[in-house]
Amino acid sequence: MIIVFKPNTPEANIQEISGMIIKLGYEPRVIRGVEHTVIGAVGDEKMLRSLEVFKTFPCVADVLPIQKRYKLASREYKKKDSVLKIGNEKVGGGHFQVVAGPCAVESIEQMRQAAKDIVSAGVRIMRAGAYKPRTSPYDFQGLGEEGLDILRQIKDEFKVAVITEVVGVTHIEKIAQVADCLQIGARNCQNYHLLEAVAAAGLPVLLKRGMSSTIEEWLSSAEYLMVHSCPRVILCERGIRTFETATRNTLDVSAVAVAKKESHLPVFADPSHAAGRVDMVLPLARAAIAAGADGILVEVHPDPVNAMSDAAQQITSSAFSEFMDGIKPIIAAMKDVHDKKSGK
Ligand code: PEP
Ligand code: MN
Repeated sequence: MIIVFKPNTPEANIQEISGMIIKLGYEPRVIRGVEHTVIGAVGDEKMLRSLEVFKTFPCVADVLPIQKRYKLASREYKKKDSVLKIGNEKVGGGHFQVVAGPCAVESIEQMRQAAKDIVSAGVRIMRAGAYKPRTSPYDFQGLGEEGLDILRQIKDEFKVAVITEVVGVTHIEKIAQVADCLQIGARNCQNYHLLEAVAAAGLPVLLKRGMSSTIEEWLSSAEYLMVHSCPRVILCERGIRTFETATRNTLDVSAVAVAKKESHLPVFADPSHAAGRVDMVLPLARAAIAAGADGILVEVHPDPVNAMSDAAQQITSSAFSEFMDGIKPIIAAMKDVHDKKSGK
């Protein structure tokens, strides 16, 4: 940690704080500038008590951490992009994936039509929620176990891998019997108890960024999964809360680029929940791919007007191949960039 003193802090205060730092187990290294003095406190920040308390001292301007809150998820820990598998499909390290499907599993007919349309457009991983985290308790909450049965049938029939959301610890066992990848939704990004329980299921996890999580908090949530023996994590930016109302959320394109730089984990973007409106899904998907995303997650429904949730943002499945045509040139351009960088 670095303790930055306010200009012209008396020597007695610096000495007093140095003494306290030693008592807390750190070695203080005092660096004197023309106006500012700083103390670099050397010691293992993870094992020792935090020095943040010094922020409350009138002579201290700031206390800054040196170490990152996450380690296993960081690029420093692992230089090369992580490649993992969802079902038989490779993800990360130049293996671009489009994950598509309805917001929620509603019926076998709805899922069949969606699967038929997305598979013929080239999709190999399908998404759909059997358990839905809804803002209002009066809204459709998902079909639950009946939805899981439908997902199982769709997997068998269309040979797709399946990603579905876990909203509570009690459902994990049943979901894990069907899903190839467990989704942690934005609302649960910082539900650490759920993250630990999901990690124990032994499946890959797609971790959405919380709508108010900083990138550091999001990567720290990934660290929770990794530290609990779940190395196969996919990060997914899905838009954050801002003052803007033209879109449901604001797709944080910079978070895609920052997460790619800070972490070796595959980074996806979800332009559907970011936009909240179908006409913006294609441009946002293109932007995310150009920023370096390893994949996108898109909501697609055979009959969006009658969808039980997120009706305004779902692409009509019969038109999905047009959407795919719209992103292909960007995927191809970014593949060239990737191949050149890796010397192919
Ligand atoms: C979803 O993927 O359907 C969903 C609920 O997403 P989010 O958690 O990003 O809101
Ligand atoms: Mn949705």
